[in-house]
Amino acid sequence: MKLHGSKLLSREKIEGIIVNGLNYVHFTSDLEPAYRSQYRNEAAYEFRFRAPIIFFLYAFLSYGIYQTIPSPETALHWFSLYAWVGFIVLAAWAMSFVNKLNEYFDIYTGFGCMWAVAISFIIIPVIGHDDDNALLHAAMMYAVVIIYSFVGLRFYTAVIAGWLGGFIGVVVSQYLHYEIDWTFLNRTYTFSSFLGMALAYAIDRQHRENYLQNCIIEINRLEMDEQAKQLEQLSQIDSLTGLANRRHLAVILDQQWRYAIRHQTPISVLMVDIDCFKNYNDTLGHIAGDACLKAIADELKNLSTRSNDLAARYGGEEFLLLFPMFDEYQVEALAQILIQRIQKLAIPHPSSPISPHVTISIGISSIVPKETNDMTSFIQAADQALYYAKSHGRNQYIIAKDIAA
Ligand code: GH3
Ligand code: MG
Ligand code: MG
Repeated sequence: MKLHGSKLLSREKIEGIIVNGLNYVHFTSDLEPAYRSQYRNEAAYEFRFRAPIIFFLYAFLSYGIYQTIPSPETALHWFSLYAWVGFIVLAAWAMSFVNKLNEYFDIYTGFGCMWAVAISFIIIPVIGHDDDNALLHAAMMYAVVIIYSFVGLRFYTAVIAGWLGGFIGVVVSQYLHYEIDWTFLNRTYTFSSFLGMALAYAIDRQHRENYLQNCIIEINRLEMDEQAKQLEQLSQIDSLTGLANRRHLAVILDQQWRYAIRHQTPISVLMVDIDCFKNYNDTLGHIAGDACLKAIADELKNLSTRSNDLAARYGGEEFLLLFPMFDEYQVEALAQILIQRIQKLAIPHPSSPISPHVTISIGISSIVPKETNDMTSFIQAADQALYYAKSHGRNQYIIAKDIAA
């Protein structure tokens, strides 16, 4: 569930609102719109289940009232008016199934509630007899309490709908010159309105608090997801050079090896080792050695540009570059480029017998693997080629196949 509120405010701020900011059942302008859109969707969804219950209560009550009306004509007259309340409930129910109307939920239910109260109100002087209209009053109280507490309106919308419905009831009754029993009305409509308001307030407040609690849960979850992602990345990376570590290399190498077998495509590796690096450390110190490793690693990374290429730190000053889909000619070109780039870096190496600058040696292994081929042997071939490059002067690349020949 995306609450949006969790993106708008920090955890501390949300906790502050839970403690101090719920009394007015209205959030600040940064949070209220996000809350409302969430609330409307939820309320509309809830109303799909609540409306049939409301309709059942309405029908039950209607039947009770119908039975108490003595004259059939009056009963019919009453029903012709009161049926509108049922129609409103059913119409709102139908609308709650149209997702596009969710953003208007408080408007259409608010209007519906207002008219339901107004009709329940007007019926009393129109149908009622002075001596026997308690059930009609009860019906109005039912309507009032239900719109406040069960339709799912927010507090302020419910207040507007409830009181405006009563106001329309008074105005229409006066207009039609029906007599209103104010004393009785105060004890029914007014009291039930206050009861309804108290319920609506408590419900709205609770709903908002739940929303904020959920925002905090979502913030915690997002933070944990982020930390898990960072941890996963860290577990794949060598901290000094920023290249893939050996564990990650093993996973990717395995994947690419299988892919190459399945699709019969070439796969190549370059085993790279810095020449006379022990001398470098001994002469310039370990810190300079680290900086040199980092500079070389950056060049290796720059060479592995395609999405499935991988540059990994294989050992101390030994690296492995993986190039899926490249054959030996393509990686040979890369090896030449790499040696040139390292030369261009021109990192001074005062104690190297080969060059005044740091150099590297490379062993290349390339294959279109079959099921019968062994990946370890494939890597070992690159290692042997590297060893050959070392023992034959360094600062060069050797292709494994060329030693075997
Ligand atoms: P060769 O040309 O045969 O590769 O000679 P080499 O001196 O480079 O090879 P050797 O394996 O004898 O020495 C590797 C050195 O790399 C030894 C070690 O001090 C250094 N080394 C390994 N890891 C690190 C590291 O993380 N930082 C630094 N500064 N040095 C390292
Ligand atoms: Mg070395
Ligand atoms: Mg080495």
